Amino acid sequence: MLLDFNEASERVDDRVYDVAIAGAGPAGISIALALAAKGHRIVLLEGGGLDYSDASQDSYRGRLSGPRYAPLDATRLRYLGGTSNHWTGRCGALDPVDFEPRRNRVLPGWPISRDELYRFGRQAREILDLPSAPFRPARRPPLASTQFRLTEFAMSPPTRFLGKYRDALRTSRRIDCYINANLVDIEADPTARHVRAFSIRNYRGQIRRLRARRYIVALGSLENARILLNSDHVRPGGLGNESGMVGRCFMEHLDVQLGDFVMTDQAFWRAGKIGLNASAALIRQRGISSGLISFTPSVQPTYYGRAAFLRKLFSGPACRIDPDGARRLSGYPCPGDNIVSSMIEQISNPASRVRLTGEKDALGLRRIDLHWNIHRNDIATIETLAQAVARELARMDVARMRIAPEVLTRRIDFFGVQSHQMGTTRMSADPRFGVVDPHQKVHGIDNLYIAGSSVYPTGGAVNPTFTLVAMSLRLADHLAGLA
Ligand SMILES: Cc1cc2nc3c(=O)[nH]c(=O)nc-3n(C[C@H](O)[C@H](O)[C@H](O)COP(=O)(O)OP(=O)(O)OC[C@H]3O[C@@H](n4cnc5c(N)ncnc54)[C@H](O)[C@@H]3O)c2cc1C
Repeated sequence: MLLDFNEASERVDDRVYDVAIAGAGPAGISIALALAAKGHRIVLLEGGGLDYSDASQDSYRGRLSGPRYAPLDATRLRYLGGTSNHWTGRCGALDPVDFEPRRNRVLPGWPISRDELYRFGRQAREILDLPSAPFRPARRPPLASTQFRLTEFAMSPPTRFLGKYRDALRTSRRIDCYINANLVDIEADPTARHVRAFSIRNYRGQIRRLRARRYIVALGSLENARILLNSDHVRPGGLGNESGMVGRCFMEHLDVQLGDFVMTDQAFWRAGKIGLNASAALIRQRGISSGLISFTPSVQPTYYGRAAFLRKLFSGPACRIDPDGARRLSGYPCPGDNIVSSMIEQISNPASRVRLTGEKDALGLRRIDLHWNIHRNDIATIETLAQAVARELARMDVARMRIAPEVLTRRIDFFGVQSHQMGTTRMSADPRFGVVDPHQKVHGIDNLYIAGSSVYPTGGAVNPTFTLVAMSLRLADHLAGLA
């Protein structure tokens, strides 16, 4: 059933659901449908409505410190379906090498195997409308390299969870899905080891308690940490934060322009853009993180920001007269450039973190400060990969690459992002190094679980949503098996 908590707050009664899930994005919706299919009574709480609204989106505003990051209310969407309402749909799986220990890490990696993580990969493909065939490179030029492999991926249409699953939620007899129902507090008992209720609030200021045997927080990476930190009545510092790890180890995929290239083998580039991932051999040899490097021949630059129109107007003539000067001045490639961009894994770094500020939103939740931090090992990965790929292209005699000076000198001052927000409630077998255990249960609390990419202990060099949907189905399966 689909209910509006603004209109129907009185419908919330004393019933105890099997599972209460907060957040109706890809993670929350996947879990709700999977548990309902197994006969469980679910309440699914969505803070936004059925469309974008300023009132809901405003709750995502926050402060930034550290290197420049995109505004926090621009990288996510706060209504039914969540950020899937504007995601691109590119999907792939973590590489086997992502599950091996690495020399450059400061914290342990995944405590579960890759096979275990993707046990529900087939069902995740169905949810995301992906082909059933394994992820593959988009094209296959001959690539005789031990250092790089062609990137394997598939495109979702992209699946919008609101459009695809609204009717299933509306007609379900086992799911009560409330829109305009904001989780504002996770109420724990006096020991802080058991959750007693979710407090939810609508836009009329009405607050109700909702009870269940088990609780799942699926609000997206930044909000998962935010709600634990805000729920600090019983345990100062926030729920599940004995180790001080809640909010720490925020990770993004770094989008750094590594340089440009000239083609020396036209046939190799005939099919256009290609993506290369660092091979397991290169990663092990050099002790670096994972990375995907994309080569785009003859770009049509897109200009962003306030001065976008002016940049576009002047870049044509300026690029014809003095291309180097124009590139330097605008910070963008010239039309027709062959550029090398990247998607680089960040190490899980405790200094990169989400904290609460003193400012509250209209719902009474303290807003966050995102202190994003780029570790020197991240910079080392970027420079190492740029050098390795430039050498490899020359060895294969398909292109010559000019590495950007700031990459060579490791003085990079601008990091683009992919809006892949990960970490903040990382998974660890040992409670000292994370927030959730291998079943995504918060360490030390017997009935609270976290879903989404906030639990990733490492992010690899692959888009995160396929993995988080597969993990959500694994979590549903685990909960269905409990008494
Ligand atoms: C522009 C863009 C492009 C992207 N492209 C890709 C891509 O190509 N491939 C890929 O894998 N990933 C991509 N992503 C990332 C992808 O969108 C996320 O990984 C995915 O949406 C995360 O799902 P989620 O359910 O964990 O969180 P979300 O989708 O963020 O859903 C969280 C839900 O919780 C709700 N909520 C928040 N706070 C509360 C509260 N207090 N109470 C109740 N409800 C609340 C929100 O309204 C939302 O519905 C992209 C992201 C962006 C921004």
